[in-house]
Amino acid sequence: MLSEFDLIARYFTRPTRHTVLGVGDDAALLAPAPGCELVASTDMLVEGVHFFPDVDPESLGHKALAVNLSDLAAMGATPRWAMLSLALPRVDEDWLAAFSRGFFALAEHHQVDLVGGDTTRGPRNLCVQIMGEVKAGTALRRDGARAGDEVWVSGHLGDAAAAVAHQKGELRLRGAGLAQCLARLDRPQPRVALGRALAGIATAAIDISDGLVADLGHICTRSGVAARIEFERLPCSAEFMPMRNHALVVWAILSGGDDYELCFTAPAARAGEILALSGRLGIALTRIGRIVAGSGVQVFGAGGKTIPVERGGFDHFH
Ligand code: ADP
Ligand code: MG
Repeated sequence: MLSEFDLIARYFTRPTRHTVLGVGDDAALLAPAPGCELVASTDMLVEGVHFFPDVDPESLGHKALAVNLSDLAAMGATPRWAMLSLALPRVDEDWLAAFSRGFFALAEHHQVDLVGGDTTRGPRNLCVQIMGEVKAGTALRRDGARAGDEVWVSGHLGDAAAAVAHQKGELRLRGAGLAQCLARLDRPQPRVALGRALAGIATAAIDISDGLVADLGHICTRSGVAARIEFERLPCSAEFMPMRNHALVVWAILSGGDDYELCFTAPAARAGEILALSGRLGIALTRIGRIVAGSGVQVFGAGGKTIPVERGGFDHFH
C-alpha cells in the first residue's frame, strides 16, 4: 500500500515553472511579479453535493481546477499557482492516476504550478486553492457596474444545467446535443484569456457558476445598481433554439449554474473593442441588457413582458 508521501510524490509532484519552492517543504514560496497584486480564491468539491461518487475521475480533476481558474478569470487575473487538499476514503491508484491526469492537463494548458496541498483520509472531498497575479489596480471586481453600462455574457448559457436535467430524466437530449451538454458539465473551459483581456475595459465581472440571474444579481448588489435583461438576446446552443420557451430550458438559461461563462458590464462606448475581442479570441460575446438605477435583476421577454425567475441560483443552505 502506497504511503501518503509516496502518493504525493507519484501523483501530485511535477516540475514547476515559476515557483521559488513547491511541493515538499512545510510551505511553498511564491514570488508575484513586481507591480502586481496577488489574487487568491478557493473552491471545494464535496462528493454527493458537487459530484456523483461514480463520476469519471479525469473529468473531476479537470473540473476541480477549472472552477477555480474561472474565479481568477472573473477577476481579470493570470492564474499562476494552485494548492490541492484531498480527503480520500482509501488509496485507489487508478482513481488517483486519472484524477491527476485531468488536473495536470488543465494546469499545463494554463501554465499553473501545483505548489502544495494536504492529503488525508476521509469522505471524498477536494479543495483547490488558486493564486494568480493582476496588475495593481486593474482587477475586475463585482462593485464597478454603473447605470448606463451594457451587460454582456460570453459563450452560451444553459448547457450544463440541461445535462443535469437530462441525467435526472427531466429533459431528453440526444446525439451531438447531449454530448455537447455533458462536455460542458464535465469539462468546463474557464475563460481565462477573456478575463485578462477585459481588465481595463469591463467595469465589473463575475463567472456564472450559480446561474445568470443570481450571479448578475451579485454584481448589482455590490455595485448598488439594477440590471434589465432581454431574454430574446440570451445566447443558447442551437440545440435549444426550438424549445427556447419550454419552462425547463428558460430555467436552464436564466438560472442553471455550472456554465462558467463570464458575465460583465462595460460602458456602451467600449462595445467596439469588446466585439473586436470576441473576434480575436474566437469567443461569442453578446450584449444582453443594461444596468440602470435601482436594485435587482429583471428579465423581459418578447413584447416587454417580465419573465418571473422562479428558481433562483444555487444556495447550499436553502
Ligand atoms: P505538513 O505535515 O507539514 O503539513 P504534509 O505532509 O501535509 O506536510 O505535506 C508534505 C508536502 O506535500 C507539502 O509541501 C504539502 O504542501 C505537499 N502536499 C500534500 N498533499 C498534497 C497534494 N494533494 N497535492 C500537492 N501537494 C501536496
Ligand atoms: Mg499538511
